[in-house]
Amino acid sequence: MQTPKKTAIVGSGLVGSLLAIYLRHRGHEVDIFDRRPDIRTIKFSGRSINLAMSLRGWQALEEVGIADEVKKVAVRMDKRAIHMPGKPLYFQYYGKEGEAIYSISRDVLNKKMIDLAEATGARFIFESKVWDVDLPEATIHIGQAQREARKYDLVFGADGAFSRVRHKMQRQSRFNYSQEFLDSGYKELTIPPNPDGSHKLDKHSLHIWPRGAFMLIALPNLDGSFTCTLFMPFEGKNSFEMLDTESKVQEFFEHYFPDVVEDIPSLLKEFFKNPTSALVTIKCFPWTYWDKVALIGDSAHAIVPFYGQGMNAGFEDIQVLNNLMNVHEDDWETIFKQYQAERKPNADAIAELSFRNFMEMSTKTADKRFILRKKIESRFAEKHPDKWVPLYSRVTFSDRPYAEALAEGDRQRIIMDKVMQMDNIAEIWDSGEVEQEILSLLNLVPSKVAR
Ligand SMILES: Cc1cc2nc3c(=O)[nH]c(=O)nc-3n(C[C@H](O)[C@H](O)[C@H](O)COP(=O)(O)OP(=O)(O)OC[C@H]3O[C@@H](n4cnc5c(N)ncnc54)[C@H](O)[C@@H]3O)c2cc1C
Repeated sequence: MQTPKKTAIVGSGLVGSLLAIYLRHRGHEVDIFDRRPDIRTIKFSGRSINLAMSLRGWQALEEVGIADEVKKVAVRMDKRAIHMPGKPLYFQYYGKEGEAIYSISRDVLNKKMIDLAEATGARFIFESKVWDVDLPEATIHIGQAQREARKYDLVFGADGAFSRVRHKMQRQSRFNYSQEFLDSGYKELTIPPNPDGSHKLDKHSLHIWPRGAFMLIALPNLDGSFTCTLFMPFEGKNSFEMLDTESKVQEFFEHYFPDVVEDIPSLLKEFFKNPTSALVTIKCFPWTYWDKVALIGDSAHAIVPFYGQGMNAGFEDIQVLNNLMNVHEDDWETIFKQYQAERKPNADAIAELSFRNFMEMSTKTADKRFILRKKIESRFAEKHPDKWVPLYSRVTFSDRPYAEALAEGDRQRIIMDKVMQMDNIAEIWDSGEVEQEILSLLNLVPSKVAR
């Protein structure tokens, strides 16, 4: 049991809302501030980001009994559907039978999470930007014309990648901070449903049109539509900068995405109306200030979206915090210290894996040797599930630490590089010879993961 505390959460995004539910379940008083108006009262803007929820996210929701409610607004995806020009559609199943990720609209999910948090007694204070935080006093300052100070026992910064709370922590000595933007950005487009409300493409797939330095992806929505995201360099050949007229956009899509261009009827309108957004990795440390203030979710670790793990990692932060609260009860200094010590290496690892996955999704998913490599891996994993868990499964369908996934993934890469050099590998890939080679390499290349 913990002594109830007066807590403030800055940010009512996905992570802030879920943290509110956890804290209310433990009997803490929760005020949650957001600079935005209440998103439940705003008419749908027509734009939506879709998120893939995987095991880590579901587990965090399950622990507070809201996973089933959220699943009602999610669409199951058990595979990637790879679209190559002039080639048949190719499906790559994600994991073992029954394993899947789920597509959810960020907007729909956020509204639901706010409803669920409010039902637990959390107080939402919208249109209240937090301008400043007095860290030693756990006091936040809100209000534009006239600043109002509110004092709490604990303050959580769940205010996203460009966090105000972190900004205040940055002014301390020995606070490390880095931000790195990708040269590529993204733009959202929509594939509307068929007239009868059905999906125009396979509903249970994450669709990818890999085209080297750029790619298009599409995630299903409940209403029969798909949200597409075009990831592309800002400048250079085949870039957002280059696509500056309607005819260039039309030509570009007809050339590179001929099988889908007709399914995006508002292509030109959306292309010029929707913003081109940037992608950033943000790292910092420490994440906490004594027993008073802690960063959580994107404010502590913003990552690029290519592993579909940003929200999942933020939800996992909350579970880790919660477990530490169970153990250390009222010792908040220890809770915060152990939280950042446990999470930081894992946040760095998923940042690295997400960055690398951009290359895999855009350039390798269509590559013959890459497909062969994946086939060998999954055949071996089927035969020896105790010896080989593919990297994607470690990240997506397991709750083992991300740092472990990164280390094991590197080991598997060394092994597979050697396997792919075997003579006639394309012919013998399914043979006992390859299986034996992997088994012996597993003994030769040591694992860095403690068993
Ligand atoms: C294109 C794209 C695709 C993605 N796909 C996936 C995916 O498939 N799977 C996945 O797990 N993750 C994905 N993510 C990442 C995911 O969206 C984020 O990790 C997640 O939304 C972070 O939640 P958060 O609550 O920490 O921050 P945010 O969602 O950014 O919420 C922050 C909140 O704080 C408020 N705020 C900010 N400053 C202040 C202030 N000064 N005062 C008061 N309030 C403030 C904001 O208004 C906002 O409501 C994707 C991200 C992008 C960009």
